Amino acid sequence: MYSDLKLFIDGKWLNGEGRKGEDVINPATGKVLGHLPHASKADLDAALEAAQKGFQVWKNTSAYDRAKIMRKAADLVRERFDHISKVMTQEQGKVYVESRAEVMTSADIIDWYAEEGRRSYGRIVPGRTKGVRQIVVQEPVGVVAAFTPWNFPTLTPVRKIAGALAAGCSIIIKASEETPGACVELVKCFADAGLPAGVLNLVFGVPAQVSEHLIPSAIVRKVSFTGSIPVGKHLAALAAKGMKRVTMELGGHSPVVVFADADAEKAADTIAAFKYRNAGQVCISPTRFYVQEASYSKFVARFTEYAKGLKLGDGLEKGITLGPLANPRRLDAMEAIVNDAKARGGKIATGGTRHGNQGYFFEPTVITDIPDDSKIMTEEPFGPIAPIVPFKTFDEVVERANSLPFGLAAYAFTTSATTANAIGDAINSGMVGVNSVAISTPETPFGGIKESGYGSEGGIEGLQAYMNTKFISQA
Ligand code: NAD
Repeated sequence: MYSDLKLFIDGKWLNGEGRKGEDVINPATGKVLGHLPHASKADLDAALEAAQKGFQVWKNTSAYDRAKIMRKAADLVRERFDHISKVMTQEQGKVYVESRAEVMTSADIIDWYAEEGRRSYGRIVPGRTKGVRQIVVQEPVGVVAAFTPWNFPTLTPVRKIAGALAAGCSIIIKASEETPGACVELVKCFADAGLPAGVLNLVFGVPAQVSEHLIPSAIVRKVSFTGSIPVGKHLAALAAKGMKRVTMELGGHSPVVVFADADAEKAADTIAAFKYRNAGQVCISPTRFYVQEASYSKFVARFTEYAKGLKLGDGLEKGITLGPLANPRRLDAMEAIVNDAKARGGKIATGGTRHGNQGYFFEPTVITDIPDDSKIMTEEPFGPIAPIVPFKTFDEVVERANSLPFGLAAYAFTTSATTANAIGDAINSGMVGVNSVAISTPETPFGGIKESGYGSEGGIEGLQAYMNTKFISQA
């Protein structure tokens, strides 16, 4: 039922023969699901060579024909959704319905980019002299090296793969070694759709060794990474040495501002459901809750009720609404956050401890009365912990919301159009959801500012990220 884990280089699936590797663990049980082969240095060189060759083929394939293959791949993802979703839940832990939604969205992303690739228009700028044609064209950047994390095993790879392919680039992707199976299944869909050899290559290994081999290569012209801020800074520095184009989608610490004029209970229901999605292991997860004083107790009560109603367990079982954390590192991080909160006088409204003695489960947790300089209010939790604090005025909450070095996502709830406009403008972040949590769609730009990174994935910006602008002056 799990995936047959392999590397994919130059159109061939390669197994573990003679290669080093590692076991993949089911976080709900702690049991081994399969063994993942690591790419050797020779494999990485073969992937670079294949991608260079694949780029020549793919950039000379018309956008129309590229779109046909991509749409076929999207159809295969939809046809195989049940198997891919089950692979994802087993290796990552999120509940089946969330895996299914991720897989279906991944297919939509491929379709969006397939079509948008056909609209990568240039323009003609009037010349200063009669007879001079000034032509602006968009060209594919070249070979892409992409690195994706474990929290969204198909969504993070597909944004990079589909963006690169639609632009006419070839790509080498190193997906997460902790959740490789769903990405293997995704890549199979592209291979089975008839993508030429070398255009898409999938490798695994020791992350630092793979990135330090691929990024400095003269063959690679673009680097795209989703993951933590420290690793993002390291990879951006490596890319800078070769002056390579970079997209960095890093961590955040998303504030939620609930104004007293909003329906506090409705806001609590909406944002709590969003908070506990994938057990909080989402870069745009709401992570700091500021509620205006008059609504504070009502919001806390309803939010806590929601958290208490979640049912923890293996995400493949019916009725389960919250899966395990993806790895033991997250459990340790949750325990450190709760200990710090308690030491600073925080009150645990619910949760606060590990759950069960099998797998990596942590109870959905709500903390109140916590100072702004505590760990949970300043470090991205990436887990099922929600700190809720009161605020008095608009200016005060904007200052507190903008006080951290992150700027990925933010949310606000209000019934006043004036406040809605003002908060959307005042928050420093790449995305703001006002009375809405729908900030990630294939058609819209997704990305952060400040230490949360730069560049967008999704929308027309996501395609431009894989294209160079060239100016031709023709007399
Ligand atoms: P980490 O910093 O060890 O790794 C983050 C990701 O980067 C992993 O997928 C890892 O495989 C990869 N990575 C690590 N070193 C690398 C290297 N030298 N070259 C290429 N890839 C490398 O952290 P972690 O324990 O896996 O996750 C913890 C933190 O990472 C979270 O708290 C969160 O802040 C962040 N994170 C963010 C996202 C996101 O969607 N932006 C996803 C996963 C993790």
